[in-house]
Amino acid sequence: MEPKWVQGGYDGVFYLGEEGAPGYGGYVVRSDGDPNPETWFAYEWDHSKQEHAWVGKAPTAKEAQTAVKGEFLCEVYRNDRGAHCPFPGVVVRTTLYKGKRLRMIVCGEHASVMKGWDGVRLDEYRTQYGLIPNDPIIGDRVAPPLDLPPIRDAAQRADTVAERNVWIALNGVVRPLAELHYWRAHFAHYPLDLNKRPCADAYGHWRRAREHAEEMYACYMREWHGREGATLPNELLRLIEREAVEYLARKRG
Ligand SMILES: [Zn+2]
Repeated sequence: MEPKWVQGGYDGVFYLGEEGAPGYGGYVVRSDGDPNPETWFAYEWDHSKQEHAWVGKAPTAKEAQTAVKGEFLCEVYRNDRGAHCPFPGVVVRTTLYKGKRLRMIVCGEHASVMKGWDGVRLDEYRTQYGLIPNDPIIGDRVAPPLDLPPIRDAAQRADTVAERNVWIALNGVVRPLAELHYWRAHFAHYPLDLNKRPCADAYGHWRRAREHAEEMYACYMREWHGREGATLPNELLRLIEREAVEYLARKRG
């Protein structure tokens, strides 16, 4: 069972689960209040080190709680999809601008978007500067709703074998894409040599699956619609992505 937030001995502290019990996550504590602005510090329980690590601060208990065992997703805004990238954050890109530290959480795919900025592993950054999920996000996180059924349904409804094969090939990209994002995040979390290989393998699997889907689509469009050199349209790429995000969510659950 997922641990829940419970108030501690007084109203200035909340624990995620019971200290010492399995699944215990950490706590938030009010470090400042009246007459000063309220401030809450968040501490996460590091199971491997058996100690608490500071991970963030916020003006309310509720917000500080999101920092503990927080889920940090990529913050890149993609104009073509009108929403923020939904994949797990791998590194924090950071730079100093007019004396202020700017930062952006990015996934493996977007790891190099901020040219000239430093890159820090997400966990390192978090224990040094603190990190609240979705803090600077303005606008939607999830890709805009697509008016497309799940790929499996579409495959069953296909009128021709050729069309069905396209859907099956598209379905074959979902899992490799999810695995690629999973392993990139995992490697960033545990940058060990033994995690390098699954990361590289996942990239290869994804690339091959995607190439296969592109070929099947081009072939289908050429033979059934007389169009040469067709490439996968954006909405199909978004559909794959939507299902990969769902796959990752199931895997976490
Ligand atoms: Zn991203």
